[in-house]
Amino acid sequence: MPSECLFRLRTWRWRLPASLGLIMSLTTPTSSEPLPVVISWRQGESAASYLLRATSRNQLSLAWLRHAAGVPEGGALRASDSPLLAWLTSTDKHRLMDAFAAPGRWNGRPSVVMNGQTILRSTAIRSTLKPQLCPLCVRETGYCQLIWEFAHITVCPVHHVNMVDFCAQCGRSLVWDRPAIDMCRCMRLIGLSNSQNVWAPESLLWQYNTYLANRLAGEGIWKWPGVPAWLDFLSLDGVFQIVRAFGARPGPFAKPMDHSTRKLTTARSQQICIRGLERLARLELDRDLSSEVQEGELVSLAKRSFRANDTDVATWLLSRLFGSGGVVKAFTPSLMAINPRQLDLF
Ligand SMILES: [Zn+2]
Ligand SMILES: [Zn+2]
Repeated sequence: MPSECLFRLRTWRWRLPASLGLIMSLTTPTSSEPLPVVISWRQGESAASYLLRATSRNQLSLAWLRHAAGVPEGGALRASDSPLLAWLTSTDKHRLMDAFAAPGRWNGRPSVVMNGQTILRSTAIRSTLKPQLCPLCVRETGYCQLIWEFAHITVCPVHHVNMVDFCAQCGRSLVWDRPAIDMCRCMRLIGLSNSQNVWAPESLLWQYNTYLANRLAGEGIWKWPGVPAWLDFLSLDGVFQIVRAFGARPGPFAKPMDHSTRKLTTARSQQICIRGLERLARLELDRDLSSEVQEGELVSLAKRSFRANDTDVATWLLSRLFGSGGVVKAFTPSLMAINPRQLDLF
């Protein structure tokens, strides 16, 4: 057993009252041994899905695993817990770490690496405490995919249905602490929501989700009429940020929707994406969108990106929508020092 794991197990046992520790030792397997039933990974599976399947196959709960790993009650299991979690489930710790949204640093600032993508803004990734899934995929394959943790994935590219982040039976948000991968904590199967929409292949939203899924799978970028071709120049971090900048305001001059990770639901994220895609389509028709776009999000991308194209496109959009002075200047004088290359996107 790795030494850091032993230390954490000792810490956990020390925290337990003696009587509770005795009861647990009589009723549950000891956490000083790996789980007896070992499962294998499925393609593109998320860490939380793997851990939930591993514990339920052993007739245990994620709460047990969290206790065994020394994670506080109700807390999320994280990439930093991988050494002990991998040991408990008899898997490779690097394989497990890759299936988490792992904290990273970019230019000294916090970032997240997930599915091989560097993401600078936490709003692009859903809270680990608020999972979403496609009930039809889960029914067919028996696991949850890592790409479902990206906030802009709101439609299943395979089944064309909305991702689901709450239980249609009990109305509560889905959580990872549930009896089985396809079952809500109310003990009923997780199904499609009652107001289920099936998205046609012509819809901007399905095309955008399929485009993202292809990019996240590292496949060639297919052309979709509903997705501006110039988004291909950008990192996915840049794509998410631009769609959000265009979609966050419900209407002209309206206050932008709160899309912080804590508040983000599938429905809210989907509304932002639909508006963002519709406005991007209108941009190509040369419409004035200055009252509908959230300029602060574009400024953020212009100032902080890890790909020159992201900065260039954000700066170009700012000058096209808001002119070279005015709003842009008020936001950040330093932005005016950026000299965007001549971009010919349309
Ligand atoms: Zn599906
Ligand atoms: Zn339920």
